[in-house]
Amino acid sequence: MARTVVVTGSTSGIGLAIATAFAGKGDNIVINGFGKPEDIKAIIENLESVSKAKVIHHPADMTKPAEIADLIETAARTFGSVDVLVNNAGIQHVEKIEDFPIEKWDQIIAINLSSSFHTMRAAIPLMKAKKQGRIINIASAHGLVASPFKSAYVAAKHGILGLTKTAALELAEFGVTVNAICPGYVLTPLVEKQIPDTAKARGMTEEQVKTEVILKAQPTREFVKAEEIGTLALYLAGEEARQVTGAHISIDGGWTAA
Ligand code: NAD
Repeated sequence: MARTVVVTGSTSGIGLAIATAFAGKGDNIVINGFGKPEDIKAIIENLESVSKAKVIHHPADMTKPAEIADLIETAARTFGSVDVLVNNAGIQHVEKIEDFPIEKWDQIIAINLSSSFHTMRAAIPLMKAKKQGRIINIASAHGLVASPFKSAYVAAKHGILGLTKTAALELAEFGVTVNAICPGYVLTPLVEKQIPDTAKARGMTEEQVKTEVILKAQPTREFVKAEEIGTLALYLAGEEARQVTGAHISIDGGWTAA
């Protein structure tokens, strides 16, 4: 039976790849995120073309708790339930702490951490009532280790792992699992955008940032593919993963093994 899958921040990058993976299984999807109306329309058409999936877009801004609650309510009203919640929306800002704009700190904590609390707060009662559910939080290798100049991002991603474990314990007896995926570098717009800033902060060329900073962190020297994260999310959402809860799973080319 088709599940209802909500993926925050799914008009681009990893979220879009996760939505595509679930659409491929015939699940109904609520996508979310920013984009031009024509681009969002094309994404919906594309997702619906891969299977019998029904797809809607909800424009909730992940800095706005009331809009986030409406995202979950809309998903439940449209498709009858929320079976899988993927907290994926995230942004980055690269700057040393003393120059880090206060509003950027607040925005990153809101989108990369607090929005997951708000989606979960709204979705958990629905999952508990059904005695089933899957919550998948897209953390990062930066949930486990730090890099300089990414204070807000690293703080938020470490926080997501704490939230994941807490929710897993609260929901363990309700058939609901809560896990985090910790990707290494994936070449999405989020990473492409930070290359010039990292170059500036470190006094390097953009090419040096790719080879000496980004891929240096990953022993495989290869970017993770967004589709590979989609496959991992499918596993965590499956019946076979019912004893996997409160866990973080790294998919980082060996980054955090070092
Ligand atoms: P991306 O920039 O390609 O996509 C981000 C998505 O979030 C977009 O759909 C965007 O519209 C949406 N978004 C941004 N602000 C929003 C807001 N206020 N409200 C609603 N939606 C909003 O980024 P990505 O690389 O695909 O990142 C997705 C997630 O994966 C993030 O949580 C990121 O931290 C995490 N991650 C990325 C990498 C990487 O290397 N790309 C590595 C580890 C973890």
